[in-house]
Amino acid sequence: QRKKLIAGNWKMNGSLSANQALLSGLVGQSQGLVADVAVCVPFPYLAQAQEVLKDSAVAWGAQTLSEREPGACTGEVAASMLQEFGCRYVIVGHSERRTLFGESSVVVAQKAEHARVSGLCPIICVGETLAERESGATLNVLKSQLEPLRAGLLTSADFVLAYEPVWAIGTGKTASPEQAQEVHAYLRNWLVERAAAISLEAQQRIAGVRILYGGSMKPANAQSLLAQPDIDGGLIGGASLVLEEFLAICRAA
Ligand code: 13P
Repeated sequence: QRKKLIAGNWKMNGSLSANQALLSGLVGQSQGLVADVAVCVPFPYLAQAQEVLKDSAVAWGAQTLSEREPGACTGEVAASMLQEFGCRYVIVGHSERRTLFGESSVVVAQKAEHARVSGLCPIICVGETLAERESGATLNVLKSQLEPLRAGLLTSADFVLAYEPVWAIGTGKTASPEQAQEVHAYLRNWLVERAAAISLEAQQRIAGVRILYGGSMKPANAQSLLAQPDIDGGLIGGASLVLEEFLAICRAA
């Protein structure tokens, strides 16, 4: 019953001219897609994404946000600003934010909750490193990343979870469909158990939360990953910058 979502994460890439080609190509060729489609672009390009995508079925969003209210916070971007530019989604807790910018799981949970109460749908990223996987710690790491998520967020079920094994990001190594499915089933189960402890209503709603896979998803491996029962879409890095590749993944969903 969950509609698939294919979300592009452009990361720190793009230029006005390259974006124009990519976005207008998406608008032109995204008719008839069954999946929901979104692109998460760098802040300076939100106005451009809004302008090109506004009458299309393609949604747009940002790659992070501040957990604070507008005010004295140099360099940060508030949820209300993302709202003004028509964002539907915002990625939070991407592994690059966690490792390069020191975002803890507590901060990530604050950002997710702040996004949600501001009317944005957070795409919350979790994932283990290679060393953690090899030492058998994967599920415990994921659990500790999920633990701080707030009851309000879980009750609303207005969020997306993304499993991105760090060792698969930008490396060309993909989790096998079975490896990914095992983790997705664990994440689903964690969500259901946690929501059940809150209320029956929360438990019922949480079944609709989409869990995306991210990490070297390409046209060649998208179909087998997306065929897994608990993989509800993809968070696409490199391939989202190439129109034909991104569209091919969207068509596989
Ligand atoms: P790649 O698809 O380039 O591996 O990146 C995945 C990712 O980090 C998406 O957020």
